[in-house]
Amino acid sequence: MSLLSSYFQQNQFCILVEYLTSLNEIFPAKTQFAGYPAVMTLADRVHSDHDMAPLEASKRYPLEVEKVLHFAGKGRDIQDFEIFLKQTRAANIRNLLLLTGDKLKEHQNGENTAERSRYLESVNAVMAAKKAGGFCIGVAFNPFKYAEAERDAQYLKLHKKIKAGADFIITQLGYDIEALKQAQAFLTQHHYAQKILACVMPLSLARAKFMLKHKVAGIVITPHMLNVLEEEKRAGLSERVYLRCALQILICKQLGFAGIDLSACHKPEEQALLESYVEQYRNLDLNALEKLWKALWRVESGKEFQPELSFFSRPPSPSQLIKYHHLHFMHDALFDSKFAKGIGRFIFNSPFWERRPAAKTLLKTEYISKHGVVGCESCGQCRLGDTLYICPETCPKGLANGPCGGTSLDRCEFGDRECIHSVKARIAKAVEQTQVLKEKLIPAVPIEVRGTSSWKNWYLATEA
Ligand code: SF4
Repeated sequence: MSLLSSYFQQNQFCILVEYLTSLNEIFPAKTQFAGYPAVMTLADRVHSDHDMAPLEASKRYPLEVEKVLHFAGKGRDIQDFEIFLKQTRAANIRNLLLLTGDKLKEHQNGENTAERSRYLESVNAVMAAKKAGGFCIGVAFNPFKYAEAERDAQYLKLHKKIKAGADFIITQLGYDIEALKQAQAFLTQHHYAQKILACVMPLSLARAKFMLKHKVAGIVITPHMLNVLEEEKRAGLSERVYLRCALQILICKQLGFAGIDLSACHKPEEQALLESYVEQYRNLDLNALEKLWKALWRVESGKEFQPELSFFSRPPSPSQLIKYHHLHFMHDALFDSKFAKGIGRFIFNSPFWERRPAAKTLLKTEYISKHGVVGCESCGQCRLGDTLYICPETCPKGLANGPCGGTSLDRCEFGDRECIHSVKARIAKAVEQTQVLKEKLIPAVPIEVRGTSSWKNWYLATEA
C-alpha cells in the first residue's frame, strides 16, 4: 500500500504539493507541510506540450519521497497509457492522477481534420489502471460549473470515474467554498467512500490576470475577485494572498476533505509563509475561519465567485428531441433487435466484406449516411447508442464518456461551439435517460479499429 493510501485509510489530512516538470531549478520535496504529511505530485505538460514527463522528473528526487504522477490523455492513446503504467510500476510509484487534460497547446482549432489530435479520456485511463491493479487512482473533478447542464454533465461523469475505479478525487482549482461543499455533499449523498481533496493556490493579482488573459481552462476568476486583489495590491496587503490560501486549507480540513492539492507553491520561501499562516490560524473553528474568509474576499451575497449567467437554463429544442427519438427508434430496429442482429451477422459473416473494394464501399456508405446527420468520422466503434445519439467525434477532444473540465457556461474549451456533453445532459434529463450517461463506461476506440465500418464491427461482435 502506498503512503498516500495509508493516509487516506487513517483519515490523516495530507498536503499534495504540486511541482511542475518544466522548471529547471529543482526544489526540495517536503515530507511535512505545516505539520501535515506532504506528498509530491508531478504535473504533466502544464507549461508546454513538450514538458519533461513526470516519470522522468520523478528520478530527480529520492526514491523514498512519496509521489503522485499525473498522466494527461492529451495527444495520447490507450497504448501510451499502458506503457506508462508498466514504467510507473517498475519505478515503484503507485499513486496516479489521471486526467483527460486541457487542450494541447498545438491543438488550437476545434475542427475535425484527418490529422486531428486525440485525447485519451480519464475514464478509459482509470479503467485500464484499475484492471492493471495495485495503483491508488486519482481523478480530477470540476465543481465550479454554473450552467445547469454543464454542472449535471460534470457530476454524471464523476459517477463514471468512480464506477471505473477512482480511489480519490481532486477538485479543479477554485475559490467557491459553496461549490466545494456541494461536491462533498454529492459523495455523501451517493454513499461514495472515495476521498476528496481540494486544489488550492495562493492567488495573487498577477496569477489571476495571467489565468484570465490565457483563458486557463475551467478556472473561474470573477471581476469581483480581481477587484479585491487589485485593491489589496494597491494597499500593500499582498501577503493576504497566503493568508487566504491558509484559510482555504483549514476550511477544507474542517469540512472533512481528505487533503489539499497545493498548486504553484513550490518555492521554499512561499511555502514557509503559507505554513506560518496555517500555524497561526489552525485553532480557529469552521465558523470563525469562514467568517474571516468571507471578510477577506468581501463576500456578501455568496455569488462573488460565480460568473454572470447571460442565459437561463433551457430544455432541449424540439428538433433535438425529434432527432433523438428518431435515431433511438432506428437504432433499436436496425441494431438492437434480435432480428436485426441475426440478419446483420449473416450478411457480414461473408468473406465478401474482406475484399478491399467491398470494405471501402461499405465504409463510404456508412460515412455518407451518418456524417450529415450526426457528424460521423468513421471511428469504427459506433457509440451513438450510449451517447444519446450525439457523436463523440463532434467533441474536439473526441470524448465519449462526458466532458473535460474546461467548459465555460456550456461553451466548449475551444470556444467555437456549445459543449456536446451539456447538450447530452439536457436531452438525457428530458427523455429520462440520465442513467446511460451515469453508468455506461464507454471503452476507448483502438487505433486499428478507426477507419473501419462500425456496422460490420457491431454485428460481428454481437452474440449469437
Ligand atoms: S461510428 Fe463513431 S464516428 Fe461514426 S457516428 Fe458512430 S461514434 Fe460517431
